[in-house]
Amino acid sequence: MRFVSTRGQSDPVGFSEAVAQGLAPDGGLYLPEVFPDLSTLVEQWEGLAYPELCFEFLHLFATDLQADLLKRAVHQSYSTFSHPQIAPLVNLSEHCKVMELFHGPTLAFKDFALQLLGNLYELQISRSGQNLTILGATSGDTGAAAISGLIGKRGVTVFILYPDGKVSALQERQMTCTGASNVFPLAIEGTFDDAQRTVKELFSDLSFREKVGLSAVNSINLARILAQSVYYLYAWLQLGSKDREDTTFVVPTGNFGNVFAGWLLTRMGIKIKGFRVATNQNDVLHRLFHTGEYSLGKVIPSLAPSMDIQVASNFERLLFFILDGDSVRVREVMSRFREEGRYCFENFAVDGFSSSSVSDLEIPQIIRSVSQEYGYLVDPHTACGFKDLDPDEKHLVLATAHPAKFPEVYENAGLEKPTSPILEELLSRTPVKYGCKVEPPAIRSFIEANRSSI
Ligand SMILES: *Cc1c(COP(=O)(O)O)cnc(C)c1O
Repeated sequence: MRFVSTRGQSDPVGFSEAVAQGLAPDGGLYLPEVFPDLSTLVEQWEGLAYPELCFEFLHLFATDLQADLLKRAVHQSYSTFSHPQIAPLVNLSEHCKVMELFHGPTLAFKDFALQLLGNLYELQISRSGQNLTILGATSGDTGAAAISGLIGKRGVTVFILYPDGKVSALQERQMTCTGASNVFPLAIEGTFDDAQRTVKELFSDLSFREKVGLSAVNSINLARILAQSVYYLYAWLQLGSKDREDTTFVVPTGNFGNVFAGWLLTRMGIKIKGFRVATNQNDVLHRLFHTGEYSLGKVIPSLAPSMDIQVASNFERLLFFILDGDSVRVREVMSRFREEGRYCFENFAVDGFSSSSVSDLEIPQIIRSVSQEYGYLVDPHTACGFKDLDPDEKHLVLATAHPAKFPEVYENAGLEKPTSPILEELLSRTPVKYGCKVEPPAIRSFIEANRSSI
């Protein structure tokens, strides 16, 4: 199978190439050229264990990988999860279910894609013989999940920049207490934007990029999207024929990667009633779905920090479908948006999507009311999914993080502080972090001195 860029100015590439590149050379995002029809295939997939389903699904796209190697990579990726079902479904009521996506090593749904990405990189290195240097900037969750997915991978060295003193103490421990020799958390003086800018500059230095085999793990990577489609399918199969066609998936949303991964299944013949895009007070997408205006927001830090975004980078993938695959128009819209910071769509409507937005004041209230009504504790991101749900409709809410990652929120809401043995164990370890000037030459030298040369 081949993958095309949303901007239509790069050649189509195979799966491995799309994964290695992340962003297409023309600045677009990769999408499958054609979609497999799953409508009859899924009958054979009922009752499969999570890793088996994941393999069957990915195998349709990763046609350039040897099946047994892919299978091994998938099994290895989910062996690090602490729950036997990987993504268990919890019944809160007849009309409301939760799918827990926080049983991976860093207790957030990003582990689903990043554990796999680490193993795919390893496969690629053994094929090409070329080492990879992973560079990224993080304000918290992505860095922790990326590091965890890449610990000890042969030929991979990881450099993650984060603003010193500006990520939560637990998130910093998740990045700095791994004990791994191929991981370099760089605590920089400055903001997340400073870190991000430096990373972008290094990526635009093509000779450096080639020399060290630079690659990114951000949420626009195709492998991340496809790995995430799997748990929607897993949930859908478990719903049973009666509920399948009238359950709406509710997805706490930031960069639009997660909910888009679910929606892609509808392009493959899977009938799903709808998707609720649940945002926090950074409501770029909620405004888009209600008014048709996509406009740059200013990030306001919230109690659900992994959804604090200014633009939703994966929206370009949906745009490609809205514009019927017309990449000339995708380029027009994206460049107008870049120049003016906004774009107004006439008659913006995409079948099956609805949206909501939750303020920071509401988050603790929702956590308390869900706890009272169902005896179930949700994290601040998942809480955003419980706004304005029609009690007569069926919903499946994706729980994107474990509540123990955000202890302060529960104290302030007058609730007992949730705990997790994985996080407790981190407290006994010694953090290792590095300091570096947040300037491209300094970071470049640091990378050259420390990257793997196996
Ligand atoms: C990253 C993240 C989100 C947002 O997911 P997107 O794919 O960016 O929409 C939601 N909740 C948690 C806990 C996250 O880490």
